[in-house]
Amino acid sequence: MSLTVSGGETLTAIASDWLARLEDALAARDEAAVVQIFHTESHWRDVLALTWRIGTLSGATALAAALAGNRLKPRGFAVDPRRTPPREVTRAGAKCVEAIFRFETEIGRGSGVLRLRDGKAWTLLTALDELKGHEERTGGRRPSGHGYSRTFGGPTWSDLRESSRDYSKRDPDVLVVGGGQAGLSIAARLGQLGIDALIVDRWPRIGDNWRRRYDALTLHNQVHVNHLPYMPFPPNWPVYIPKDKLANWFESYVEAMELNYWPSCEFEGGTYDEATKRWAVAVRTADGKKREMHPRHLVMATGVSGIPNLPEIPALRGFRGKVLHSSEYEDGKAWAGKRALVIGTGNSGHDIAQDLYSSGAKVTLVQRSPTLIINCDPSAQLVYGLYSEGPPLEDCDLITASVPLALAKKTHQLATRHAKELDKNLLEKLGQRGFQLSDGDEGTGWQFLYLTRGGGYYFNVGCSDLIIEGKIGLAQFEEFERLLPEADLVVLATGYKPLGALVGKLFGEQMAARVGPIWGFGETQELRNMFVRTPQPGLWFIAGSFAQCRIYSRYLALQIKATELGLI
Ligand SMILES: Cc1cc2nc3c(=O)[nH]c(=O)nc-3n(C[C@H](O)[C@H](O)[C@H](O)COP(=O)(O)OP(=O)(O)OC[C@H]3O[C@@H](n4cnc5c(N)ncnc54)[C@H](O)[C@@H]3O)c2cc1C
Repeated sequence: MSLTVSGGETLTAIASDWLARLEDALAARDEAAVVQIFHTESHWRDVLALTWRIGTLSGATALAAALAGNRLKPRGFAVDPRRTPPREVTRAGAKCVEAIFRFETEIGRGSGVLRLRDGKAWTLLTALDELKGHEERTGGRRPSGHGYSRTFGGPTWSDLRESSRDYSKRDPDVLVVGGGQAGLSIAARLGQLGIDALIVDRWPRIGDNWRRRYDALTLHNQVHVNHLPYMPFPPNWPVYIPKDKLANWFESYVEAMELNYWPSCEFEGGTYDEATKRWAVAVRTADGKKREMHPRHLVMATGVSGIPNLPEIPALRGFRGKVLHSSEYEDGKAWAGKRALVIGTGNSGHDIAQDLYSSGAKVTLVQRSPTLIINCDPSAQLVYGLYSEGPPLEDCDLITASVPLALAKKTHQLATRHAKELDKNLLEKLGQRGFQLSDGDEGTGWQFLYLTRGGGYYFNVGCSDLIIEGKIGLAQFEEFERLLPEADLVVLATGYKPLGALVGKLFGEQMAARVGPIWGFGETQELRNMFVRTPQPGLWFIAGSFAQCRIYSRYLALQIKATELGLI
């Protein structure tokens, strides 16, 4: 079913017509014909399908040259009847026709999203779904299971699972460092492509990365945005998932997806041998022994927050009380009746201040720089509006991937403006209390703060109200020295060093310099060194929200598979 627009043409016909013109222009390598079907200000984002890169080109002339010059012979462009039909939508404040399509190249099959305004393309996404001959073992391609049951002599499924987990006589092809959502997502995707991957994590139990956070934590985003790949959360799960429930799900996920996972295993670093194209890395296993491994690929899934950022605060030198970084804080029980200063007004600072307050401590939050405050519900959820619009998860993920940076910025500016209206009362009262507010770079809001700096905002789940009511004190950093002599505890909720610092620590400064900045946008329209090939062969990074990990783990796994096959 497709909507009819004026003149009786269906949206499917309009999109199909455009796709046919694209196909003809590409077949003829006719750059001028490509320019003709795009708006002057338009964007093409390719996710591996035609360039083996994740990249965005803007402007009809620039993108036409790259599209028309493509050598992978893209063809078979057609509106995909299995997916959400073409529809009229508003994106970044502008009306357009949005159509999901499919296509293929010499080596793979892909999906894309086309946005048309007045018959010409405003944005185009081309994304690789699978490599021909190396498709995921899901759905119609799932294993038959006969092998385990019909040859009664074994090996049984349990035997095979056991030997898959046992790396005493082999090394994995891919070592995934970190077993949070990023590590689980990429390991699950690699498993579906038949790549031997092992996750190592320093915590003793799968899910401890969530279990060890403060007791009252529930996820900030709604359940339907937070699924891991392949296994959506059950439909009776709460809208905001409590951390221990999520931690237990991680354990179930590892078992159900048959992931190989070594808990209590610290990754200690290593070197890369250019000649053998293998790593020599050291891990410290649960029994305290050191093991050297030689994987071809290392996927760092250690979180955007790696090494704690501990600013030099001269006043703290003579302080006799306790000083903790937010990563060391567990709960407030020990601090009932005591005085605490929490430095830093991001999510961690606010949450810890609230936890200390509810444990009976007298808390003052100390602000160092302007911070974006947004009510968790509904304001912070506005940017995920698409996921409540109706399309299935897979389509929402593709549509999310199809938004080029310029449109994403505009979308977030609009959402931030809307959120500020919804939160007007709260923000005014916070301002009156002396809280320094921000709305992010150029008003782009909390998500861009996350993507550029990894923090700088607070999703209000009650702490801002406690500040307004005067139950939690507020001071600017200039007042810290005056307040310090009264305090028993100082919590440094001062964030984490950039991921590059972790690379330096684990692999040396030379490799850190070679790789360069990780995360944030820099000069490009994409996150730097994230989910893509880095300047260091065999070194990959994955991090971010559940949605980012779910969406980009697929593309990262495809790149590793293609490297193994010699396609890249
Ligand atoms: C209150 C709160 C609510 C949130 N709500 C949401 C939400 O609703 N949706 C969302 O998408 N995000 C949410 N987030 C953000 C989310 O926590 C992070 O995005 C997430 O933890 C990142 O996952 P990750 O796998 O990249 O890293 P992590 O969860 O930090 O996992 C990294 C793992 O790497 C391991 N590791 C690190 N170094 C080593 C080493 N050298 N050797 C061995 N192991 C190592 C660590 O032990 C850790 O288990 C929330 C965060 C908080 C605090």
